[in-house]
Amino acid sequence: MDIANPSEEHTMLREMVRDWTKEYVEPQAFEHDKHERFNLELLRSMGELGLLGISAQEEYGGAGLDATACAIVHEELSASDPGFALAYLAHSMLFVNNLAYNGTDEQKSRILPKVCSGEWIGAMAMSEPDAGTDVLGLSTTAVQRDDGTWCINGRKMWITNGCLDDQGTPADVVWVYAKTGTDDRGRVQMSTFLVEAGMPGYSVGQKIFDKTGMRASNTAELVFDDCIVPAENIVGAPGESLIHMMGNLELERLTLAAMALGIARRSLEEMNKYATERSAFKTQIRDFGQMQRYIGESWAKYRAMRAYVYDTANSLTIGTAGQRLDSDGVKLFTTTAAKEIADAAMQVMGGYGYVAEYHVERLWRDAKLLEIGGGTLESHQKNITRDLFKDSEAITR
Ligand SMILES: Cc1cc2nc3c(=O)[nH]c(=O)nc-3n(C[C@H](O)[C@H](O)[C@H](O)COP(=O)(O)OP(=O)(O)OC[C@H]3O[C@@H](n4cnc5c(N)ncnc54)[C@H](O)[C@@H]3O)c2cc1C
Repeated sequence: MDIANPSEEHTMLREMVRDWTKEYVEPQAFEHDKHERFNLELLRSMGELGLLGISAQEEYGGAGLDATACAIVHEELSASDPGFALAYLAHSMLFVNNLAYNGTDEQKSRILPKVCSGEWIGAMAMSEPDAGTDVLGLSTTAVQRDDGTWCINGRKMWITNGCLDDQGTPADVVWVYAKTGTDDRGRVQMSTFLVEAGMPGYSVGQKIFDKTGMRASNTAELVFDDCIVPAENIVGAPGESLIHMMGNLELERLTLAAMALGIARRSLEEMNKYATERSAFKTQIRDFGQMQRYIGESWAKYRAMRAYVYDTANSLTIGTAGQRLDSDGVKLFTTTAAKEIADAAMQVMGGYGYVAEYHVERLWRDAKLLEIGGGTLESHQKNITRDLFKDSEAITR
């Protein structure tokens, strides 16, 4: 069995996305990175392919596909344009999947068809200017008013798709985490809200420019200034955010790992091609032992990444938590490996590798974000060590 294409449907999905990416994503990648511009219309058009709600239930306009399918799409997009793939991930995994698996029936029937078609673009807002890894250190608050509505105050930072353009048009809908009190043991109680464009007090603080990489995705600071949200826009009951967060983070980390795999694959392709085309000292540079070390080690790392990504994907059940050991493990391993492989590609390609026309410098810049976003390397190290303390038999199972 091909672990990365375990069924005929998976193979067909990969071919479809690969062809579409070649035709529509590849030609725009260079320009959108260069000008730090997000291709909103291209993302919207993925609704027609049924990919914006890839994991959402079919009754709400989704495709109802599994974690392996999600990994395939992220790998294929990222092999061409990781910045665009990140915008897709923020919409389809961080917003749509979250709502599909945690929202009420009313919320799902009202919002899912719009985000699955691309009429609305979604985002997820967890990080804040003063709290990232320390999720429970958040300071955004939500207070319920006498009429049942909620009043949200605070700022969210680094939000992918937080703004849709350079004029500060906010995402159509945002999955927002806010503090709603403390429980009887004094622990922070965190709740989840659906904030929609046009709700009073919701705006874009700033689009964040001059990012190292992922420049084809928009990153924004969002402001909630006495933002009034109707009672029906809280997700589940107050205090349930950790349940939503934990299940969804596993799929997020898997798909970020799949993005790393796409970067590694493309870097390997580019360095392999170049090593044949380029000669020095009257021989192809692929005949030099030092070049062989870059190519050989990159191949072995790439194959290990691919095996770990799809082994994790094939055993991850969307909507359930409990597979953190591998969703953290696969992201920890693949993100650094992708960065190393992009770096090896740049080294093999010499001066050409260092300029945008030859792709790998963009992949090299984009790869770094994957070691930070969706959980830093250090948070994965911490989680894995903690989980192996609780379940040491995982090592021998
Ligand atoms: C381009 C981009 C897009 C993003 N998109 C989104 C998004 O869509 N939604 C969203 O909510 N967030 C998003 N983020 C935020 C991202 O998830 C955070 O940057 C990340 O979680 C780290 O948080 P931080 O930046 O506040 O760093 P911090 O948490 O302040 O960490 C700083 C350093 O301290 C280390 N550290 C912190 N705590 C510990 C500890 N206990 N033990 C050891 N080391 C520790 C970290 O590992 C890191 O090295 C995005 C970020 C970027 C750059």
